[in-house]
Amino acid sequence: MNLGDLAYPDVPTDAVHLLPLGATEPHGPHGPLSTDTIISVGICERAAERLEGEIPVLVLPAVAYGVTRYGSAFAGAVSISEETLRSLVGEIAEAVGALVLVNSHFEPEQVETLRSTGLPLLDLTRRRNAERLTEEFRAGSCHAGRYETSLVLAERPELVHADRMTALEERRVDMPAAIRAGRTDFVAMGMEQAYCGAPGEASAEEGSETFETLATMLVELIREVAA
Ligand SMILES: [Zn+2]
Repeated sequence: MNLGDLAYPDVPTDAVHLLPLGATEPHGPHGPLSTDTIISVGICERAAERLEGEIPVLVLPAVAYGVTRYGSAFAGAVSISEETLRSLVGEIAEAVGALVLVNSHFEPEQVETLRSTGLPLLDLTRRRNAERLTEEFRAGSCHAGRYETSLVLAERPELVHADRMTALEERRVDMPAAIRAGRTDFVAMGMEQAYCGAPGEASAEEGSETFETLATMLVELIREVAA
């Protein structure tokens, strides 16, 4: 299921490949820098498992770097350029054949770069997809908030600082509006602790449910690609 775990004689030649894309980016004082990568990998592994026996699916090693400039005021943010991301994804696509991109880092330059490749993309910022996700996600006030923190709690609970998480007050920030107004970093958006939304309300139960919804969307996309 994970390409990197296989020896070469065991690699199927007819598989649909999934490329999990994330970022190395601050996610509040409570969440890991790898939040987006953990989420993308979790979606891919669940979808691959569900399609076992129906469509051969391989999960590629994740791309843990993205175009992530908003968090540059904080320690641990590592951004790459649009050109680097486009080249990397394009060359991976050439190497493997059938490829689906699975992205959980929503900075507009990241999403636009991935769209520009023309490759199939699980694009959660599209309205028809966002509508199936939680209220916080749809509201756009969701960086390291209840939505993302719940997903990490479902997958890697040991990486969430529960004491810090429960002490955080809800912080409503309309990120799409702030971005349209030209704000290009978390601090200018009113996120001086690199989060918005309600991380204190996160739970592993919500995370598991959201993962199931996300995996369903990806399974639908993989079936389209394989057809
Ligand atoms: Zn994130």
